Amino acid sequence: MVSFCGKRPCATVVTSEERVSTDYYKTLGVKRSADASEIKKAYRKLARKFHPDVNPGNDEAEGKFKEIQEAYAVLSDSKRKKQYDTFGTVDGDPTAGFDPFRQARGRAAGGRGPGGFRVDFDGAGGFQDLGDIFSQFFGGSAQARPRQAPKRGANQELAVEVGFADAVQGTTISLPVQRQLRCSDCGGSGKAVRGACPNCHGAGQVISTERMRVKVPEGVADGNKVRVAGKGAEGARGGSSGDLFVKVSVRPHAFFERDGDNIHTTVPVTFSEAYLGGEVEIGTIHGPVRAKVPAGTNSGRTFRLRGKGVRNTKTRAYGDHLYTVEIVVPKVVSPAGEETAKRVGELYQGNPRDKLPRTL
Ligand SMILES: [Zn+2]
Repeated sequence: MVSFCGKRPCATVVTSEERVSTDYYKTLGVKRSADASEIKKAYRKLARKFHPDVNPGNDEAEGKFKEIQEAYAVLSDSKRKKQYDTFGTVDGDPTAGFDPFRQARGRAAGGRGPGGFRVDFDGAGGFQDLGDIFSQFFGGSAQARPRQAPKRGANQELAVEVGFADAVQGTTISLPVQRQLRCSDCGGSGKAVRGACPNCHGAGQVISTERMRVKVPEGVADGNKVRVAGKGAEGARGGSSGDLFVKVSVRPHAFFERDGDNIHTTVPVTFSEAYLGGEVEIGTIHGPVRAKVPAGTNSGRTFRLRGKGVRNTKTRAYGDHLYTVEIVVPKVVSPAGEETAKRVGELYQGNPRDKLPRTL
């Protein structure tokens, strides 16, 4: 293929990211073989060290505290721990082993998120009093503690794979999304009347799975991230929720090759079509297009069909379709064909390789 057009940078929907697939064992500083009591011990020790009350105004400590809580929320729950151990990440198959009754009450009924992408949710009911829910985060003995600024929830990321056509045309996917939510039983304190909250095992948070419908915009490219605003981890102390980033990987197509917003194909033509010129049908992602092959077209020459490429997710402008002509030779050699080929050879004025260097 002739390198005809310069590589354009891929259209990126969103670039910021925050990985959620972390090593929970490493976070808690325990071996993978650690038993429940070792995990609990490690968690308590770290939670005391990084607790926001011990480190007021220290964002780093607070971030660490959140990681510790997240790790403990998974590793202290036998079902979730098993899933994590199996898949290496809580992204694996988030629906497996989850108790739907664990999911916090109050689900978004649908609508357009601030991120601009339509997000729908299965199931009834809208957000209830969010202020009330969030104000209880880290609640418990809030009165006795110094007031702290609201903390935005962490962003979460998960990966999906879509087909080539779905990426080019846009699609809506339904996928289970794990969210870090404030524990509804203890209001985020992690405490029960006696000891640790049995629902979250003292973490103050639970991980629940929601099935979300995420709109993948027309023209999304491999590696793009679609942002679903407010669908990451829940915030603390009235802080807003983080965002969910859906990282899209696009399966390649056997025929259409994508380069940024442009599409490349190779089109076989006969010798007579290339020599005499003619009209050929070019398959594009928008349907077939009749295109002219000018007389005297050499194999490898590339032509452009403007606006027949992929729509840019940001500019909304269409890229081009580039097709490269490839002269194919008939497979069958007949006596008549041999005669014709010899006469064709006579059409070349001299040796076509005359101008090539013969050595270094
Ligand atoms: Zn709880």
